[in-house]
Amino acid sequence: MNFSDHKAYRIVGYKLRKIKLLVKGIYYKGSKFYCPLCKQFYRVFLTGGQDFAVLRQFKVIGAGQRTNMVCPGCHSTDRDRLLHTFLCNNDSIAFPGAKMLHIAPEPALYSWIKKQYKSQPTDYVAGVKYHEGFYYDINVKLLDITQLPFGNESFDLLMANHVLEHIVDEGKALSEIHRVLKPQGKAILQVPWSPLLDQTIEENEPLSAKERAERFGQSDHIRLYGRDYPERLSSAGFAVEVFDAAALHSDENYLKCIAINPDELVFLATKQAKQ
Ligand SMILES: [Zn+2]
Repeated sequence: MNFSDHKAYRIVGYKLRKIKLLVKGIYYKGSKFYCPLCKQFYRVFLTGGQDFAVLRQFKVIGAGQRTNMVCPGCHSTDRDRLLHTFLCNNDSIAFPGAKMLHIAPEPALYSWIKKQYKSQPTDYVAGVKYHEGFYYDINVKLLDITQLPFGNESFDLLMANHVLEHIVDEGKALSEIHRVLKPQGKAILQVPWSPLLDQTIEENEPLSAKERAERFGQSDHIRLYGRDYPERLSSAGFAVEVFDAAALHSDENYLKCIAINPDELVFLATKQAKQ
């Protein structure tokens, strides 16, 4: 397939996905749940996530099978809605004013953020390594987090959620994130992690997809993060703050309606000068 065919597939695939979601959204319309990303009410959010024993054993936050997880109308997840709450209610982030890089953008969050940057579209840059064609519009760039195609100090805000656990050279990825952020720039870096593990478990030796799923909770994960995750970010030159996003919003009924995970915290890393 040549490049222009590939581009056409991507455009058609993205449009078909939108139509499919529109129909699904109409079918599930109701009043019990509210999705702040597509701004619609539904009778149910769908079950999502993978069910592996290791995720249950280590009570991994941000992974595992969950009920009321996926919005039928835009496929936002509980994590996307949590980050929406965080971005809209955290005063330490100039959102949507900041020049922003979104790596491996969650499709529902991407569509919503793009709308927030409507008056300054070039300030929101999104890129992904393994584009899945049907998920993103043609403006999402192809990039590698360990070799970001941007100059030093290009962005005020960076978001890369559930990316680092896929990257073999985590140090290089963090170094690139540090490089492209402006001084005191901020990065939201969510990962699945276990509050029961003191130390991150990782294995650089070749493992089969089945072994990775059994050990880390997904067939393409390189590690399972533990409570040392913030220290790993600190070692890469960031000051780390951990936020309870739900605590930033005062309306309990609203939080129930958007069905976020109350245990999921937001990791915000601020670029410090390297020693
Ligand atoms: Zn939605």
